[in-house]
Parts: sequence; structure tokens; C-alpha cells
Amino acid sequence: MTDPRRHIPRTDTLLACFAEAARTLGTATVKAAIMAAQQRARAGEIAPSEVASAVAAALPSGPRRVINATGVVVHTNLGRAPLSPAARAAIDAAAGTTDVEFDLATGARARRGRSALAALAEAVPDAGGVHVVNNNAAALLLCALAFAPGQEIVISRGELVEIGDGFRIPELLRSTGARLHEVGTTNRVHLRDYADAVGPSTGFILKVHPSNFEVTGFTSTVDIAELTGLGVPVIADIGSGLLAPHPLLPDEPDATTALRAGANLVTASGDKLLGGPQAGLLLGDADLVERLRRHPAARALRVDKLTLAALEATLRGPLPPVRQALEAPVDDLFDRASALSAKLRGAGIDADAVRCVAAVGGGGAPGVELPSAAVSLPAEYAKSLRLGEVAVVGRIERGHCLLDLRTVHPDDDSLLVRAVLG
Ligand SMILES: *Cc1c(COP(=O)(O)O)cnc(C)c1O
Repeated sequence: MTDPRRHIPRTDTLLACFAEAARTLGTATVKAAIMAAQQRARAGEIAPSEVASAVAAALPSGPRRVINATGVVVHTNLGRAPLSPAARAAIDAAAGTTDVEFDLATGARARRGRSALAALAEAVPDAGGVHVVNNNAAALLLCALAFAPGQEIVISRGELVEIGDGFRIPELLRSTGARLHEVGTTNRVHLRDYADAVGPSTGFILKVHPSNFEVTGFTSTVDIAELTGLGVPVIADIGSGLLAPHPLLPDEPDATTALRAGANLVTASGDKLLGGPQAGLLLGDADLVERLRRHPAARALRVDKLTLAALEATLRGPLPPVRQALEAPVDDLFDRASALSAKLRGAGIDADAVRCVAAVGGGGAPGVELPSAAVSLPAEYAKSLRLGEVAVVGRIERGHCLLDLRTVHPDDDSLLVRAVLG
């Protein structure tokens, strides 16, 4: 009887099979996976014929490409805004050595990210100064450190927001040593509440957009314009990063409107409705922005060259995918759903085009329903699609797996068909 272990594939044979993987992962990683799989075969845990697939399964995969068919336009768990082709190209160009902090004309040091900052300033002419940090949470942190050290931040009880994953804006602010002076009640706050709270120990008033919930019924809030008369800076966290009003999202705050109303500073995310990379935007009074920029903590919160490149390309370039998804006419989506379903039915799959409702998500425009269309499949497809070569994440609704096309780029339609066909 021959020993089956004699059939275990040799290391150099396996290395040749996984040469492609070794180019991205490095030979050491691939070799370690090969040796581990061979060892399992020697120990009798797997058959010699299973060694190659065990190596493939053990290799680190890195982040997987996912098609977002959830109908949630800004999906935090799926990486929020997908970048535009222009932003991807800009990242690629900036990935090597680049002039991020260097003036090629004079050969001298230059302001870091100046062209990205110029693009942001051009996009929001009402802002006297602009600055970019790691994310909106970092923007708020920097404001608290710079403008309320050992002081109070006045904030409405209706705006003590938990952002997600257990992170809460009030706790973030308190972590800087600032104290929160809460005013009003969960549902109602009045100008006199703010006026009573403001005093010598006030650093600033913070308005936080309740971007992931709605309070309806007996409610009242105080507008930015009313707060500007109280003698302390007003900072508005608008959340989703709209720079100007958007006709489809009339209740979503935007930077231009907030600044025109008199906000001294606006903070926002780069990777929500702006459709760019993760970033925190700070826009407003030039002197306040300069103080933020000069604060020692600014260095710890600064963005890298790739973010600056992607942000500039998002601001200057064509409409990013998030905005395309938001603005796509529903009839176009239904036509695509019909065409895709017909193809799938032709292959014997029980698919149908259906009308449905998509959402903005990701901490923006809560309660806004976006009319949409989807390919409806039997529910069992949900899991196999998630585990496919290109992962597709849909949603289960009324016992069906819906692939909502509002969040799928039209260029990915054929990929989607292939994923369903398996
Ligand atoms: C999303 C959000 C944040 C957090 O922004 P990040 O960029 O994820 O740090 C803060 N405030 C509001 C109102 C938000 O909607």
C-alpha cells in the first residue's frame, strides 16, 4: 500500500501555482500558507488533493470588492461613498512622491494640500477659510480643543447624537476636557434657553444636525441665524457634507446656507453626500480656521496626500457616484431592472423587476424615501451573492432578495447578472 502522503504537492509546484498571489502578497506569506497546508495533509487533516484549495483559502484576501445593492446610498458598513473614477485616478497619481507640500516653481516648501483647499474654498465661496482633517469627528474634536479648553460648549439636549458603532458626539466633546452645557429638552429648545446658558465660560454654541433620526410632533428648535446674536461663536455640524442646497433633500442642511445664516464655522464629512474620501471639512471665519490650523492637535488629525488628492478630484471632477445614485430617475432604474430580470429569466432564474424604496443612509436625510427599482430574487440568493467572487449585498424584503439598482452603478449591471448566474 502506498502512503497517500507521497501525493502531497511539492512546495515548488505550489509556489508556481500561486505565483500571481505572491506578486501581491509576497513570497513569504504564500510560502507560509503552503507549508501550513502541507503540514495539515501530512497530519491527515486534509487529503493531498485538497492542499491547493487549502492554500487558496488561507491566503489573506484584503478588502473585498462589494456591489452595494442594498438601496442605502451611503452605507457606512460598505465603506460609505464609492470614489469617482477621477478621484481614483488622482489617488493613483498621488500615491508616489508628489508635490503635496512643495512648490515646483520655486523649489520651496508650500502649504500642504493647497490645491485641494483651493478647490474646497471655490466650492464654498461663503467660507473665509477652509481646513481638512481626518473625519467630521476629528473636526469637532479640534473645535473643542481650540475653542473650549476648560470651558463650556452650549448644546441642545435634542442634539446629543450617537453617530454609530457606540460613538457619541457629547462623549467625544467631553473627552477634550470641555464641559457640555445642555439646554432645552429632547423635543423643544428656545432661544432663551441658549441665552440663559451663554456666559463668560462659554467657548462656543454647537448645533448638531440630527442626521440619523427624526423627532416629530411637539418640537421646536432654534435656527442658526437666531443664535448668532449671543456674542459667542456658533459652530454647525451639518453632518452629511452637502455644500449647497440639494433639491431632492430640502430638509438636509448645507454648508453655504449655514454660513449665510451666520454660522462662524461649519463641520461636515467628506464621504457622505459629498461623495468623496473620508475627511472632515471645516469651513468658515478665516481667523477661526487659522486658529484650528495652528493648534498642536491639528498635526495629529491631518489627512494624508491620498485623501487630499481624492477630495480635490471629487470637488472639481464630474458628479461622484453618490450623487449619480441619488439623482438617477426612477424610470431609468426600472428599465434597467426589467432588462436584467429578463436576462436572468432567460437563464431559468425566477427574477422580476419591482418598484421599491431606497434611502440616503449613512447619517443623512433620515426619513427621506427615494423611489427606486430592484431585481427581485428568491431569498436564498442573498447568501450566495454575498459569498460570490464579486460580493453583492442586497436586502431582504417581504421574503425576497431585492437588488436595488439605485445604489448599483449602471456599469456594474453585467457584473450583477454574472454574479446571480453564479
Ligand atoms: C456622520 C456624522 C458625524 C461623524 O462624521 P465622521 O465623518 O464619520 O466622523 C458627526 N456628526 C454628524 C451630524 C454626522 O451625521
